[in-house]
Amino acid sequence: MMGLRARIGITAVAASAAALLAVLAIALPGLRQRTTQQVATSLEAQARLVARLVQPALAQGADARTLDALVDSASGDLHARVTVVAPDGRVVADSAASGEALDALENHGNRPEVQAALRAGRGTSVRHSATVEDDLVYSAVAIRDGARTLGVARVALPLRGVREQARHLAGAVVIALVLAFVITALLSVMLSSSLAGPLESVMEAARQFAAGNLDARSTVSRRDEVGELARILNRSADQLQERITEIARDRARIDAILSAMEDGVLAVDHQGVVLLANQALRASLGLRDPVGHPYVEAVRQREVGLVLEHVLKTGERKVMEAELHHLRRVYALTGVPFPGSEGTPHGAVLTFHDVTERRRLDQVRRDFVANASHELRTPLTSIRGFVEALEDGAAADPLTAERFLGKIHTHADRMGALVEDLLELSRLESGERPPVLEPVDVAEVADDVAASFAELAERKGLKLACRHDPAPTVTTDGDRLRRILENLVENAVKYTPTGGSVRIETGRHDGAAQVSVSDDGPGIPAEHLPRIFERFYRVDKARSRDLGGTGLGLSIVKHLAESIGATVGVTSEAGRGTRFRVVVPVVASPLASP
Ligand code: ADP
Repeated sequence: MMGLRARIGITAVAASAAALLAVLAIALPGLRQRTTQQVATSLEAQARLVARLVQPALAQGADARTLDALVDSASGDLHARVTVVAPDGRVVADSAASGEALDALENHGNRPEVQAALRAGRGTSVRHSATVEDDLVYSAVAIRDGARTLGVARVALPLRGVREQARHLAGAVVIALVLAFVITALLSVMLSSSLAGPLESVMEAARQFAAGNLDARSTVSRRDEVGELARILNRSADQLQERITEIARDRARIDAILSAMEDGVLAVDHQGVVLLANQALRASLGLRDPVGHPYVEAVRQREVGLVLEHVLKTGERKVMEAELHHLRRVYALTGVPFPGSEGTPHGAVLTFHDVTERRRLDQVRRDFVANASHELRTPLTSIRGFVEALEDGAAADPLTAERFLGKIHTHADRMGALVEDLLELSRLESGERPPVLEPVDVAEVADDVAASFAELAERKGLKLACRHDPAPTVTTDGDRLRRILENLVENAVKYTPTGGSVRIETGRHDGAAQVSVSDDGPGIPAEHLPRIFERFYRVDKARSRDLGGTGLGLSIVKHLAESIGATVGVTSEAGRGTRFRVVVPVVASPLASP
């Protein structure tokens, strides 16, 4: 395709050429005729002057010589041939001939201009003259004296001069037109390039926008329409860029929100093709790159399908819970519709809220309530039984009555211990009382605890001993540390059969203080070890109960230890004994309560 500049230039040049040619075509052909006509008109005026000049002489019947002299002088002034013809056609005077030559001149009565002058007062003719041997223009006017015609005055000019004049004129016109054409062409080329250049630059900018380069701007800054076009284009590009930046910013925000969300988010279009799956969803379900694929390829879960299809079909919100067995997780699914892109039906957004922990805690709570009720019901049932027996007559026998009352007392004590433990556990879990920190010597606490169990151990025929290695003084809650040791020593004394021994040892461990309670009792089978710190967990339920245990002791130990930043570990071998080890940090820093 020809360039814009060339097209505008060629069009302008062609238009000016056509206009100039038209001027030439109209002006040139008439030029000679008009020149001849003009000459004829001026000749007629000259003829009138000659007529006026010779009229008095003719009227007075002057002789030929006088007339000839008059005519010659007039011819000299006019630079033309002057002739005076008598009404009968005889040549009376002629600037081109005198004397005999004049008399030899043929009669001019038949000359068309002479005839016309005699008839109508004036006449013009162009023809060859034998006298001067050239084409001549003749103009004749009648010479009158009142109503009488005295003759005809004729002025003639060679046509050669006229033609030359016409040619000169035509030449001048052509030169003028050629000059005009050159100037026009130059001007049009200048104009076209001054228009086409900026237009092309604006077009280039527009082409770049279309190709997606929004930084492109037109640099044309003219004050005309092309400049306005460039400004409009630049403004549009500014606005477009602003909008795109805004959209990108919104997108980035949404992306940030979506990726910061802990819940999984899945968006599908009206055909169920995944549009978006946020980071949380990809991580929790182990999805690679689900975008662009049908959701069933990514998540093969019945509930997910049910919720999505329901939302896509009805456009209504739907909530459902789904257990993803292979991930051992439970999700609360919430599906809502979201608008599709122009002209398409709505899609659906599904959020996956992980409720596994909540479900577990609910279960723990339910189990705890069931366990606590069960633990309370057992002694309560026994108490009721003994009371009923007493009512039914057992009270009559003082020995039986005393025995039954003793049993009731024991069960009531058990209930009391249980309630005490439950309260303590609940207080510890709520964290309502912060630990009271003070410098504590672990050896001293261990000796105190050993002393308080000495009598019980002795009664049971157990050896209870303390051994101290150097240990750092710790800043901790001494009372809580004491209760930890009491629980551990109580268990050791409780479960170790007669003849056995219990050792309390203190020392240092990795810069912290350490206290251990070991026994050579029955030990704890390995499969139970991971669970003995759970509430109500007992290795041997009946035996524990018989020994007055509530199943909460170690659970309380664990909570107490956590509250002062201490750790409790256990090693045991069935049949050979058990060792609990408590590591107390130099400065208590409570662990976050669970
Ligand atoms: P309990 O009130 O039954 O003693 P604990 O929470 O104190 O409850 O202990 C949980 C279980 O751990 C006990 O039932 C017992 O089976 C076992 N256990 C705890 N300490 C010892 C120990 N020193 N020797 C053997 N078994 C123990």
